[in-house]
Amino acid sequence: MAPTPQDEHDNAELTVVADMWSPACTAIRTFLARNEITCRWVQPSHPTGQKLLDEHGFTAEDTPVLIASDGRALKPTGEEQLAEWVGLHTKPTADDYDLLIVGGGPAGMAAALYGASEGLHTILLERWAIGGQAGLSSDIQNYLGFPDGISGSDLTDRARRQAAKFGAELVISLQADQLRPTDHGFAVHCTDDVTVTARSVIIATGASFRTLDIPSVDKFNGRGVFYFSALTEAPLCSGSDVYIVGGANSAGQAAVYFSSCARKVIMLVRADSLAVEMSSYLIEQIASIPTIEVRTSVEVVDASGDTHLEHLTLRDRKTGAVEEVPATWLFAFIGANPATGWLDDSFARDDHGYLLTGPDIATVDAAAWHLERPPLHLETTVPGVFAAGDVRAFNGHRVAAAVGEGSMAVMLVHKFLHD
Ligand SMILES: Cc1cc2nc3c(=O)[nH]c(=O)nc-3n(C[C@H](O)[C@H](O)[C@H](O)COP(=O)(O)OP(=O)(O)OC[C@H]3O[C@@H](n4cnc5c(N)ncnc54)[C@H](O)[C@@H]3O)c2cc1C
Repeated sequence: MAPTPQDEHDNAELTVVADMWSPACTAIRTFLARNEITCRWVQPSHPTGQKLLDEHGFTAEDTPVLIASDGRALKPTGEEQLAEWVGLHTKPTADDYDLLIVGGGPAGMAAALYGASEGLHTILLERWAIGGQAGLSSDIQNYLGFPDGISGSDLTDRARRQAAKFGAELVISLQADQLRPTDHGFAVHCTDDVTVTARSVIIATGASFRTLDIPSVDKFNGRGVFYFSALTEAPLCSGSDVYIVGGANSAGQAAVYFSSCARKVIMLVRADSLAVEMSSYLIEQIASIPTIEVRTSVEVVDASGDTHLEHLTLRDRKTGAVEEVPATWLFAFIGANPATGWLDDSFARDDHGYLLTGPDIATVDAAAWHLERPPLHLETTVPGVFAAGDVRAFNGHRVAAAVGEGSMAVMLVHKFLHD
């Protein structure tokens, strides 16, 4: 049984009154945690929750409700409204910039830092939370300069402060849905009808996680089934059994992370060995933790429960044998797709949807480049628009690669603007 969380962060400035198993509650909790906003969370049925709701004129049916220590209360209707209410920067301060970056993961943040520090009037648009996928990592061990590892949230916090120090404008809750050339550069339109223009653009929209795509499992999203959210949910899993689906590094890291609080961690891996996708340092670490069980050649095929996840059905991929196991927590880390759906066909992609840039254009789709000069490294098939990080074809899908490319893209932007 999960702990009652009202004692956690008792001094937090913000209280969320919400039912633990409501997907809306999970979404808010995750959004706040990813944006480094500490909150305490109270069940509506708890006397404290009932009292708070009464005091602010709400009932349990209105939850989730947020209550700030200064007395303000909000029944949120959307992420942008929530972001604004908690004081995040959600509106650009100018109409036109030298450099516009879309995406606030490591690639975008590196680009923002280098752009601003080298004198470019720089804005970064992020749809959700600064940090991207890396912000979800519990322990990044292979990033240069951190021999003892660093958590994604710590790395994100440092990057955010560093980019802001140089004057980069970081705007949250703006999702780009169109990019078009203008007479002087480019215009990026966002979902809530904000348009920002700039002389150059770096696309750093990375990749979005895949879901298991099993209707009976999807039914429990946020009610026992979670994607890439080890950091925010771990405190609730204390003393429980935790199932992790996936066999790559992100799943391995999560298993290690959960092993410090869960009773037992069971990894469900489709491949017949962890070695297929995982780094050897992590395989060794997992092998040394007795409370982690690795089950290979296994997949989830069904789930059941009443208000939340209660059972999983697993299938042995070799024998076809099926078994039902009691399960309250399932965390899936099963890869990602490129976040390029918002771009039109003038951006050439590889077979998986990743953006082609620089010399790769000539090898994969030469006809997509229309200028006499060859494309600059990291330049997409739209001249003056660059791509960096996981969104780019043939990228290493690592924090270091994203940071390197984000920084390099700024050098190329300078070259493009001055040639
Ligand atoms: C759990 C986990 C653990 C990991 N551990 C490691 C590790 O230990 N070492 C390592 O090297 N790598 C690790 N990785 C991989 C690493 O995090 C990624 O390679 C890296 O984050 C890629 O950075 P990026 O900036 O290119 O893209 P992302 O991190 O994917 O960031 C893209 C950002 O763009 C935003 N975005 C997308 N579309 C839009 C839009 N239309 N408008 C506005 N914003 C948009 C997204 O919200 C996101 O914040 C891990 C990944 C995960 C998920």
